[in-house]
Amino acid sequence: MEKVNVPELFGSLVFNDREMKARLSKDVYKSLRKTIDENVRLDEQVAEAVAKEMKEWAIEHGATHFTHWFQPLTGVTAEKHDSFIEPTGDGGVLMEFSGKELIKGEPDASSFPSGGLRATFEARGYTAWDPTSYAFIKDHTLCIPTAFCSYSGEALDKKTPLLRSMQAINREALRVLRLFGNTDVKNVSTSVGPEQEYFLIDQKLFNQRTDLVYTGRTLFGCRPPKGQEMDDHYFGVIKPRVIEYMEDLNQELWKLGILAKTEHNEVAPAQHELAPIYSTTNIATDNNQLTMEIMQKVAKRHGMVCLLHEKPFAGVNGSGKHNNWSISTNTGVNLLSPGETPYENAQFLLFLCAVIQAVDDYQDLLRLSVATAGNDHRLGANEAPPAIISVFLGEELTGILNAIRDDKPYEGVEKVIMKLGVHVLPRFSRDTTDRNRTSPFAFTGNKFEFRSLGSSNSIACANIMLNAAVAESLRQYADELEKADDFETSLHNLIKRVITEHQRILFDGNGYGEDWIKEATEVRGLSNLKTTADAMPKLLDPKNKEMLIRHKVFNEAEIQSRCEIMLENYCKTVNIEGMTMVDMVRKDYLPAIEEYLYTLARAVDSMKSVSENVKCRYEISTIEKLTDLTDNILTAVEALEEALAALKDCEDIFATSEAIRDSILPSMNTLRGYVDAAEMLTSAKYWPYPSYGKLLFSVQ
Ligand code: ADP
Ligand code: MG
Repeated sequence: MEKVNVPELFGSLVFNDREMKARLSKDVYKSLRKTIDENVRLDEQVAEAVAKEMKEWAIEHGATHFTHWFQPLTGVTAEKHDSFIEPTGDGGVLMEFSGKELIKGEPDASSFPSGGLRATFEARGYTAWDPTSYAFIKDHTLCIPTAFCSYSGEALDKKTPLLRSMQAINREALRVLRLFGNTDVKNVSTSVGPEQEYFLIDQKLFNQRTDLVYTGRTLFGCRPPKGQEMDDHYFGVIKPRVIEYMEDLNQELWKLGILAKTEHNEVAPAQHELAPIYSTTNIATDNNQLTMEIMQKVAKRHGMVCLLHEKPFAGVNGSGKHNNWSISTNTGVNLLSPGETPYENAQFLLFLCAVIQAVDDYQDLLRLSVATAGNDHRLGANEAPPAIISVFLGEELTGILNAIRDDKPYEGVEKVIMKLGVHVLPRFSRDTTDRNRTSPFAFTGNKFEFRSLGSSNSIACANIMLNAAVAESLRQYADELEKADDFETSLHNLIKRVITEHQRILFDGNGYGEDWIKEATEVRGLSNLKTTADAMPKLLDPKNKEMLIRHKVFNEAEIQSRCEIMLENYCKTVNIEGMTMVDMVRKDYLPAIEEYLYTLARAVDSMKSVSENVKCRYEISTIEKLTDLTDNILTAVEALEEALAALKDCEDIFATSEAIRDSILPSMNTLRGYVDAAEMLTSAKYWPYPSYGKLLFSVQ
C-alpha cells in the first residue's frame, strides 16, 4: 500500500468546522456556530449562505448529488439522491443547491415503518438538517445528516429521540452542577466510544449460503473439528488479507472524519474488532452507522463479506458492541471521573449514584433497547452478558460505597470515616484494574461500559434510554437538593440512601453463572427478560412511559408505535429465517441426502452382486441412520411450515411475537438439529452448502 498522509486524509470528505471557518463569512460562521453549540434557530439567509459554500465544497470534491441522510426505524440508514443540476433554459445545466434544500427535505416516506403514526394516505414525512453532525461526501453524494419526522412532528427515526435525550440530561445535569456552585458550565453532554465486532468471510462461500444471503446468519451447519477452543485467534497475528482490509477500511473511515483507532482479532476465528476514539453521542451514533456501512462496502472490494449479525455461527462466539459512555461538561470535566479534590469526589459520587439508580429503575428499558432477534441468541448464552442487567463497580469503589452506606471507616488507602461532609472523603485511584467481562454494565475507571448491545444494533436506542434514565435520577436529586437548607448534609443523606436502596443492582461476581440467575431473579428481584418478545412490551409500562414523556424523549404515540415496530422487526426477521430454512431443506438438503443414500444403496447392490458375504457395514448403517434422519427432517419441516402458517391467525403483534418465541424458534431448532446430524453422516461431496470449517477458516 502506498504511503498515506493521515492528517491530510483525515476528514477530507467532511464539511467540518475547519472548512466552515475557511469558507463561510465571519458572520455566517458565527450564527451557524451558535446554532450548533446553543441550539439557536438558524435563519434563512444563513442557511442560504451555508448551502452555497457547502455545494461549492462538495463539487470540488467530486459530488454531483446531495441527499438527506437519516436513520429510519428499519435499522439501516436511508438516503434518496438528488442531483444538483438545474436546467438553464438553453439546453445546459447549472449546479444548484438552496438553503431550503439544505434545511428540509420531503422524501416519500410511505414505505418506512411508522407503526401507525402516519396514515398511508399521508405519505409525506420530512427530514430536517441536524447541524450538530457534519455533512460529508459518500459515493459522489453530499450527505446531510437529518432527523426524520411525520408531518405532525412525531419522530420516525432514531436521531430525534437521541437528540431529545441529550437535551434532557443536559438540562438536569446543569441543575445539579449549579448546586455544587458550578456557574461556568454552559452545556453537559454524553460521549460514546462504541467497540464494534464483526466477522469476515470469503465472498464466494457467502454467495453459496442461502441462509447467509437472506438472513445474515447460518441457520444450519455442524461444528467444525476446530473452533475457538484453542484461544489462538484472540489478539493473534492478523492475516495478510485482513490487514489489507483493515488498512483500506481505516483510510475510508478517516476520510469521513471517523476516529478509527484500534483493531484486533477477536475470540472466534474470522472475528475482529474495531474501536474509534469516543465522541459526542450524536456524532458517535452517526459515525457508527457509517462505519458499519463502510465495513461492508470495503469488504466487497477485497472479495470478502463483513457479517454484522450478532450470531452468524452457532457454537461460535457472536458479535457485540460495547457502548463506552460518559458525561462531561463543555469545560472539559468528565463527571464520571473521580476528581483530585474531595469536593470533586462528592460531585463524582452523586453522578455515579445517578447512573446506578437509573440502571436499577430502568433495567427493562436498557434491556429492551438492545433487543433484537439476533441479539437474543447472545444474551445469556455465556458468551455475552446475561439478559439480567446489573452494575459492576470494582472492589475499591464498592468498598467506598459500602463504607458510606454503613457509616463505617473505609478500609482502603486511608482509614477514614465515610461521613460525606464533603471534606472528609478519601482520594481513590482512577484505575479499576479488575476487568469483569461478564458484567453487562461495568464501571471502567472514568466511564461505564454497556456491553449488551448487539453488533448490528444502532447505538442510538441504548443511549436514548441511558441518557433519559440518568436524566431522571438527576432530576430527582436536583428537586431534593434545591430545597435543602444544609446542602452538604442533604447530599450525604441522599447518596447514602441511594446506595442503600439500589444495592440489589450492584454485582461484581460472575454474571455467566447459574447461581447468579437464581440470586438475581429470586433473591434480588431483578428482571430477566430473555427474548425480544418478553422485553419489548415493557416499553409500555406506565413507569417507563411516564419517565420518557416527562423528559420529552418520546410522546405517547411515539412510544406505542416504536414498541410495535420493534416487535414487527423481530417477527419479520424470524419469519424470514423460518421460511429460508424450509426452502433450504426442501430444495437442497433433502434431495442431497437422498442422492447420497441412493449412491450408498447402489453400492450395496453392486457389492452384494460380487459376493453374498460382504457385510457393507458402513453403507448399511449409514443408510439406516440417514433414513431415520430424513424422516425426522420431514416431520420437523412440516411442523415448522404449519407453525409459520399459523402466524397469520395471531390477533396482534404481541401475540405474533409470542408465537415466534414459543413455536417458531423451537421448531427451527429441532429442524436444525436433524439436518446438522445428517451433515455429519453425509459425504462432503454431496453436501449442498459450504461447511462451517470452510466459512470460518477461508480467509487467510
Ligand atoms: P478496552 O475496553 O478494549 O480496554 P478502552 O477502555 O481503552 O478499551 O476503550 C474502549 C473505548 O472506550 C474506545 O472507543 C474509547 O475511545 C472509549 N472511551 C475511552 N474513554 C472514554 C470516555 N471518557 N467516554 C466514552 N468513551 C470512552
Ligand atoms: Mg471494552
